[in-house]
Amino acid sequence: AGQDTIYDVTVSPLPQGVLCAFEDRSAWEQMDQMRRDFVANVSHELRTPLTALLGFIETLRGPARNDAAARERFLAIMASEAERMNRLVRDLLHLSRVEAEERVLPGDDVDIAGVLSATVVSLRPVAEAAKVSIRVEGADHPLIIRADHDQMTQVLTNLVENAVKYGSPAGAEVRVALAREIGPRGAQLRISVSDQGEGIDPFHIPRLTERFYRVDGHRSREKGGTGLGLAIVKHIVNRHRGRLIIESEKGRGSRFSVLLPLEPR
Ligand code: ADP
Repeated sequence: AGQDTIYDVTVSPLPQGVLCAFEDRSAWEQMDQMRRDFVANVSHELRTPLTALLGFIETLRGPARNDAAARERFLAIMASEAERMNRLVRDLLHLSRVEAEERVLPGDDVDIAGVLSATVVSLRPVAEAAKVSIRVEGADHPLIIRADHDQMTQVLTNLVENAVKYGSPAGAEVRVALAREIGPRGAQLRISVSDQGEGIDPFHIPRLTERFYRVDGHRSREKGGTGLGLAIVKHIVNRHRGRLIIESEKGRGSRFSVLLPLEPR
């Protein structure tokens, strides 16, 4: 108790040039089961808002037909259910894209400090609505890395948005820091997003990057979450040959760190 839980969710890529040829029936069956679970999850996630939409359409056609106030209220709920479906489809497309690209090394020179500053600007309204401030450190000079610009934006957006959504009571601060450092595998960039929020029970941490895994499903949905954000982050970090480290202390807050190699290997 009182100890940080550190969990490294990296999946190390295979060394290049090694061919693995094997047939493992149980591994194959496991993959197939995962695929079926995924399809079942997607269907369930889409069906919930769809059922609500169909219900409200019926009500609008029938009992609420001549009730202007009820009509306005129901239309607002319908719009938010449709937006939920929209977010889900958007995240599913992102996930399938990042999975497909995972084996292709990113090739652009990206100023990660600029990406971070732009991300924070675009998240300001979300933070203001939650009465949370975002502090940025280490982003005052350009910091060029080999990366995919849009994917880096996505990693930062997902982590900072989560820190605001789950990590922060009103008045709290989310801290995003960039730092160059020397790691066990050479020069690396550390991007860390720290919050002062509810923290995460150690039991959940290893599973957070699974698709649709949520600590509290009701809370995630209420906050507009799809349950896919950290799965997307994990694939992007893998593609960049990086590591995602999640540290958390229940009741005190969490820190999500992305470590990216700075030198080509
Ligand atoms: P969601 O769309 O539900 O936010 P994510 O994949 O981004 O999906 O996150 C998975 C779950 O991890 C969330 O539902 C939440 O329970 C937990 N989580 C993520 N970030 C934090 C955080 N900073 N503090 C506490 N819990 C978090």
